[in-house]
Amino acid sequence: AFESISMAPTDPLFGLMAAFRADPSDKKVDLGIGAYRDDNAKPWILPVVKKAEEIIRSDPSNNHEYLPIAGLASLTSAAAKLVFGGDSPAIQEKRVASFQTISGTGALHLGALFLAKFYPRGSNPPVYLSNPTWANHHQIFQNVGLPIAQYPYFAKETCGLDWNGLTSTLQSAEPGSIILLHACAHNPTGVDPTQAQWKEIAEIMKARKLFPFFDTAYQGFASGDLAKDAWAIQYFVEQGFELCVAESFAKNFGIYGQRAGCFHYVAAPGAGAEELTKRVGSQLAILNRSEISNPPIYGAKIASTVLNDPQLFKEWEQDLRTMSGRIIAMRKALYEKLVELKTPGTWDHITSQIGMFSFTGLSEPQVLKIREEFHIYMTKNGRISMAGLNSKNVDYVASAIDKVVRE
Ligand code: PMP
Repeated sequence: AFESISMAPTDPLFGLMAAFRADPSDKKVDLGIGAYRDDNAKPWILPVVKKAEEIIRSDPSNNHEYLPIAGLASLTSAAAKLVFGGDSPAIQEKRVASFQTISGTGALHLGALFLAKFYPRGSNPPVYLSNPTWANHHQIFQNVGLPIAQYPYFAKETCGLDWNGLTSTLQSAEPGSIILLHACAHNPTGVDPTQAQWKEIAEIMKARKLFPFFDTAYQGFASGDLAKDAWAIQYFVEQGFELCVAESFAKNFGIYGQRAGCFHYVAAPGAGAEELTKRVGSQLAILNRSEISNPPIYGAKIASTVLNDPQLFKEWEQDLRTMSGRIIAMRKALYEKLVELKTPGTWDHITSQIGMFSFTGLSEPQVLKIREEFHIYMTKNGRISMAGLNSKNVDYVASAIDKVVRE
């Protein structure tokens, strides 16, 4: 049946990881990695996660049974509070439907599937993705048959936000278009709108009747402040938007492979919102059932144990500050070294960008050269993972950047 099937390209990021592993050089540096590393370039199990695992294992009622279709209720309720705020009127008014999913990817997929099936398609408005965006966004929305469009996001000249491009595209987007927004720590650029800019984005979206779909994969991991990293979502909810949120616990709990995440639907306030949320939830349940039957239990228990215990929650916040603090320190160290070397160009964006990733502004030939000559691995678009930098390799990376920029 498949004689004419074509060969699909390999995933560029996973290909990069394989090339790194195969490189025998002892100087090699992995700046492609999308996971946190400690100062010894090793994966880090959060101390609070270790504690939660001990609590889970020593609980005599612990088992490996199926979860309900919507997932672990103690997780989804705590997850909603984390994103929308503990005293969120949307939660109090029962206009939030929350489903546990296969991490953030699964949450995006469930949302995409829901939109493909139920969003009024009248004139077939597209899903707008930022240009650039996390590459998987394209496939996730395309795979459910939704048309894709892009809004400009990154200004090459400043390595900052393309504010004019972004706003003029939203202003001319067809009413009803779905706009995918990175809640914080934009991947791959590390560039976020300011709060004043978020307010303007909300205003344009309200006036143009655009539908927000937030992707939040770095809450707490970006700034170390959970509320700050959820500010944009909470502002949009406060403004009365009907919206969707895909929430991942991979980065902020460091439980990447456990695949813990949540999808949230929020109805606009007003009469009938609670009843509408129930109907939406009933359809989401059917989709979750047919896609995954029920979500995985172990990561859900870890996150739920921490989120629902005030003492563990505090310890988690400390762990988040450890991760975000180390990353911010590496940004500063890289920046200072480049300035010290008088590397041609401006490098302020390294410290003003936020989160796991930074768009360095290096060109593709420079990226390939730095890989070849210095065994430093980054994606072709010049994105580096800050988590791959540490006190032992940051000077080496800075001088390698300096050399390829000068060549
Ligand atoms: N969205 C963005 C922007 C991401 O960077 C990631 C992780 N790289 C995800 C979603 C989803 O990751 P996961 O499925 O591991 O939660």
